[in-house]
Amino acid sequence: MARYTGPVCRMCRREKEKLFLKGEKCYSDKCPMNQDPKIPGPHWANRTKLTNYGVQFREKQKVKRYYGVLEKQFALYFDMASKKPGMTGENMLSILETRLDNVVYRLGFAMSRAEARQLITHGHFTVNGKKVDIPSYLVSVGDVIAIKEKSLDSTKIKAVLEANEQKPLPKWLSLDKNTNSGSVVEVPTSAEIDLPIEVHHIVELYSK
Ligand code: SF4
Repeated sequence: MARYTGPVCRMCRREKEKLFLKGEKCYSDKCPMNQDPKIPGPHWANRTKLTNYGVQFREKQKVKRYYGVLEKQFALYFDMASKKPGMTGENMLSILETRLDNVVYRLGFAMSRAEARQLITHGHFTVNGKKVDIPSYLVSVGDVIAIKEKSLDSTKIKAVLEANEQKPLPKWLSLDKNTNSGSVVEVPTSAEIDLPIEVHHIVELYSK
């Protein structure tokens, strides 16, 4: 399936939740979710009660949209998660959180995960000193993610760093503002992930 290129705010309306896909706009009064949003499509869609399968499916769609992951890759992550020791749902969220695009966003080096993906593919970041331009690259504990020195001249990156000056940092990451780099302190757990995700619905969906 190709990546969705339509209006992104529509995805939030569909999931009836803010997915924070547009950077600054998401935190402003301009966010359409602040104004009694309706599910896109026919009016009956707003009234229909979801079946059990529907709830599970919507939860999966929501998480895919949060992280900007396509179906095939999402299914691969589930497979990886189910083969790791521990709880599959918890493993799944840890994998998604350690994607480089998410880490760049969490560190405040991009306004949204979509912007992080774009900046990564344009070669603005290094991991442990080496350029990495793959947004789905999975970082590990101890990895150091940095903005390339040359990229610090970019007006866009300067503006992002300024706008994110006060952005809260999750406990599993550390940030060094002097070197514009951050590192992974520990594996993120679901308790540290500030998203309203009921991952058990996704585990149930894939376990059928
Ligand atoms: Fe979603 Fe952000 Fe658009 Fe609001 S502004 S609807 S949070 S993408």
